[in-house]
Amino acid sequence: MELNGYTIDHQSDLAGANLSGLEIIDADLSHSNLAGANLAGSRAINVNWEGTNLERANLVKTDFTGEDLEGVDFQNADLSEADFSEANLKGANLAFTNLTGTNFKRALMSGVCLDHSNMSRTDFSGVDFHGHVEFSEDEIQKRLRIIEHLNGPGRQEKEAWRSCSRKVDWNWIQESHSIRLNYAAKDIGRTTFAGAYVNAAIFDGANFGSCKCENYVHPSKDYLDKAKCYPLIKSCEFSHSSFRSTNLQGMDINIRYSNDFTAANLQNTKVLFKTIALSSTGSRKNIFPRADLRDAYVGALLVQTWTDYDGNCFFSTDDGQFKGAKINGLEFSNDSILRSYSENEWFDQSCHPTPQDKSSAHENFKIKELTLSKRKELMNC
Ligand SMILES: [Zn+2]
Repeated sequence: MELNGYTIDHQSDLAGANLSGLEIIDADLSHSNLAGANLAGSRAINVNWEGTNLERANLVKTDFTGEDLEGVDFQNADLSEADFSEANLKGANLAFTNLTGTNFKRALMSGVCLDHSNMSRTDFSGVDFHGHVEFSEDEIQKRLRIIEHLNGPGRQEKEAWRSCSRKVDWNWIQESHSIRLNYAAKDIGRTTFAGAYVNAAIFDGANFGSCKCENYVHPSKDYLDKAKCYPLIKSCEFSHSSFRSTNLQGMDINIRYSNDFTAANLQNTKVLFKTIALSSTGSRKNIFPRADLRDAYVGALLVQTWTDYDGNCFFSTDDGQFKGAKINGLEFSNDSILRSYSENEWFDQSCHPTPQDKSSAHENFKIKELTLSKRKELMNC
């Protein structure tokens, strides 16, 4: 097949080729090299992408709707505003990609490496992230190099050695570094978000948890057993993102500002709030209306109670809003704190206490020590 003066065939070398603004229909690009190629604004229909290399490609606004892109290498590519809705991306490598405004609606994304990608306004509605993909030795090595990039070979080990105020021993560094990589290799095969920047992304109706896999290993105290098909999302932080009706059952998630968990399945989920001392006049809270938090674990949540001039008592979480949530069996970490205020001179009923007002706190105690009915009251359930 000839396109824009290029011969498109199985195993073609199209590195750096200009294929922008084209319709690529029924082409065979299997095992072709399209590293650094420009496909901006092009539309792919029924293309064979098996083993295709799209590293560093310009894929801005490229239309991949419904395409089979299983295992394709997109490392460092610009995928902003590209359309992958209903595409099969199982095991694809999307590390270091620009995913600004990219559409992944209802795509299959188990085993995808999303490490260090930029997810701004990315739409993952209805995406299935759950599952384990087996990789070739080549792909495993490629993913280990991404993990090495994250840690910097030997850096942590050198630091540790320095703190012992002894001479750096390279054998020791090499050995402990390879132990750490072997440990990290256990995560390869599931979807990973390590170091991804996530802001205003949409995960509505997506599936992370709730395992129905074949060869399922029941979650046990051994976290690594459970890890084999559960996406790894705890090594990034979510802000301004939407998780409406998302299935996060059994996951481990770190959240920052203003995420929406309306009607999300958070059973057995570990939710860690990363922002202490949120200003009520600043960022909006993380909200959990009608979410299922049964047997979930919430870490580092601050709840406040204060009284006005008439002696009326008010409860407010500095973060989090749980109206209508199911909280049977919900646990709080020891660092979740309830602060109490009374006769606060600056109290204004139209707003919550500002961080400055907190100096008037006269009592701190642990949420965990409260009765269930008290917890329900303060969480507005
Ligand atoms: Zn599973």
